[in-house]
Amino acid sequence: MNTSTAEAKAGGSPAPEPRPSNFIRDIILDDLKTNKYQGRVQTRFPPEPNGYLHIGHAKAICLDFGLADEFGGHTNLRFDDTNPEKEETEYVESIQEDVKWLGFHWDGLFYASDYFDQLYEWAVKLIKDGKAYVDDLSAEEIRKYRGTLTEPGKDSPYRNRSVEENLNLFERMRAGEFPDGSRVLRAKIDMASPNLNMRDPVMYRILHAEHHRTGNKWCIYPMYDYAHGQSDSLEKVTHSMCTLEFEDHRPLYNWFIQQLGIFPTQQIEFDRLNLTHTLLSKRKLLQLVQEGRVRGWDDPRMPTLSGIRRRGYTPEAIRNFCASIGVSKTTGSIELAMLEHFVREDLNQRAPRVMAVLRPLKVVIDNYPENQAEEMDAVNNPEDATAGTRKVPFSRVLYIEQDDFREDPPKGYFRLSLGREVRLRYGYFITCKSIVKNDRSEVVEVHCTYDPATRGGNAPDGRKVKSTIHWVSAAHGVDAEARIYENLFSKENPSDVEEGRDVLDNLNPNSLEVIPNAKIEPSLANPTAGSRYQFERLGYFCADPDTKPGKPVFNRTVALKDTWAKVEKKHGAR
Ligand code: ATP
Ligand code: MG
Repeated sequence: MNTSTAEAKAGGSPAPEPRPSNFIRDIILDDLKTNKYQGRVQTRFPPEPNGYLHIGHAKAICLDFGLADEFGGHTNLRFDDTNPEKEETEYVESIQEDVKWLGFHWDGLFYASDYFDQLYEWAVKLIKDGKAYVDDLSAEEIRKYRGTLTEPGKDSPYRNRSVEENLNLFERMRAGEFPDGSRVLRAKIDMASPNLNMRDPVMYRILHAEHHRTGNKWCIYPMYDYAHGQSDSLEKVTHSMCTLEFEDHRPLYNWFIQQLGIFPTQQIEFDRLNLTHTLLSKRKLLQLVQEGRVRGWDDPRMPTLSGIRRRGYTPEAIRNFCASIGVSKTTGSIELAMLEHFVREDLNQRAPRVMAVLRPLKVVIDNYPENQAEEMDAVNNPEDATAGTRKVPFSRVLYIEQDDFREDPPKGYFRLSLGREVRLRYGYFITCKSIVKNDRSEVVEVHCTYDPATRGGNAPDGRKVKSTIHWVSAAHGVDAEARIYENLFSKENPSDVEEGRDVLDNLNPNSLEVIPNAKIEPSLANPTAGSRYQFERLGYFCADPDTKPGKPVFNRTVALKDTWAKVEKKHGAR
C-alpha cells in the first residue's frame, strides 16, 4: 500500500492513512469490544529528558499518538524525570519542539516529578503493609545478593526490619540525614524469583542532587521502575506502549499497581527501531556531541529529530516511514535506504526544482553575443502543475558540472565531450568545439557553439541529443556553500566493535564534505532557512540556518538515486 502522496499533500497534521494492521491495534480493538476501559483509549509518550529525541522515538511517538487519535482517545506527553543528574531543561524544551514538529499535539503535559509526593506516600504505605524495607547494603553488596539467572538471590540481613524502624529510617532518608548511597528503600517481593526484576528491586535511592524542576526539595529520588508504572496509572493510561526490553519489567509494574490497588494500566511491548549505519541511543549520541565528533545535537548527520530536520527531512516523510515499518515482537534492523526512500518520495511531490552546479566548469558559447542575456522558462515542479514556472537567466558564459564533461569519454558516456552535442536544460543545444587547460593539464574552460533554433530544448529538424545537462549563468549565478553528507558510521552495524575498541571508532571519517564554491541560479540567492529544493540531477537540498544574506548554505538531504525503490521492485510491494 502506498498512500503517502495523499499524506504529503495533507500538510501540517498527521493524515489518517496509511494504517497498517498491527497487533497493538488488535489488542485495543479487543479491549473496546469487551469494554475493558469503558471505551477509553489513553496513551502517553514518556521520554526521559536526558537528551534529544531520535528517529527511534519517532516510531514510539507515531504509535502513541497515532493509535489514540484513531480511536478518539488522548495522549499525554510525560517526562520521566527521575534522574536529576542527567536531566536538563534544554532537553525538556527540545523534546516538546520535536513532538510538535512531527505534527502531534498532546492533551496533558506531565512530569514524573509532579508525582514525587504521591510516590512518597505510596512508598510509606508499602512500608506499613510490610511490602518495602530500608536496606543498608551497599550497591555492590546488593548486586552480589541478587544472584544470577541460574541462581536465586539471598535475603538482605536488613530485610526483616520492623515497620517502625523502616518508617523511621525512610523518613530520615528523606530528611537528608544520610549520605548518598548509604541506604535504599526496596520492595519486599521474592529474592528467588526467576525474574531478576522481582528480587526486591530498589524503589528509592539517596541523591543529594538538584532537580531541574523540584530543585532541592528532595534528596531521595524514586527509581524509574518505581515511578514509571504508577505515573501511567495516575494518568489513567489504558494502553502503555514501550519497547521490548521492558517486557521483564511489566510484572514489577503490575505488582506495584496491585499492592497499591490503583488504576490497572496495561503495558504492551513492541520492537525498538534499529537503523543500519545509525546509532539510536541518547547516551551514545550525547558522547558524539560532548566529544565534538559532530557539531551538536542538530548536526544534519545525527539521527536526532533536530538533526534530520536540519538536514531537510519532512515530518510527513518520517510519519510515512514509521507507518510503513509497523510494529512487531521481534527486533530487527531497518535499512537506512528505506528512510531515505520516504523523504525522496515526499520531496519529489513538493520540492521546487532549481539548477545548481556543485563543482563548476566554465563553458563559453563562442557564437552567443557578448553582453546579451535572456530568460528561459523553467518548470518549478513537474509533479505539481500548480507550482508554475520561473525565469532562469542565460548568457554567453555558463557553469556546468565538471562531471558533465569528459576529454576522453568512456564508452556509454553521452554528456559533453569534444565534438559532441548536448541539450542545456531549458536552454539550447550546444556542441563542444575546443578546450582550454591549465598548466596541470586540467580542463578549465570548454568552448562551444549553440544552435539558436533549439531554444527551449528541441531542434526543428528533429535531430536528437543523448543527454541533457544543467547549468548556471556565470554572470547571474550566486555563490553558495553545499554540505554533502554520507553515513555517520561506515559499518552497517556501528555497534559491531572489536575487542578494546569503541563504537565511535566506527565513525565514517568522510561523513561531511563541504563544497565552498557551488553556483546556484539567482532565484535561490536568499533562501529561508529550512526551505527545501531539488537541485536538478543532484538531489534534494535544504537551506541551512548558517545561511547569511548573499551567502546561502545548503545541506544535501538525500541524493536522487533510490536504492530502496529498486529493492522494493525486486521483492514486490512493501
Ligand atoms: P535511548 O536508549 O536512546 O536513551 P530510551 O529508551 O532511554 O532511549 P526514553 O526517553 O526512555 O529513551 O524513551 C521514550 C520512549 O521512546 C520509550 O517508550 C521508549 O520505549 C521509546 N523508544 C526509545 N528508543 C526507541 C527506539 N529505538 N525505537 C522505538 N521506540 C523507542
Ligand atoms: Mg529509557
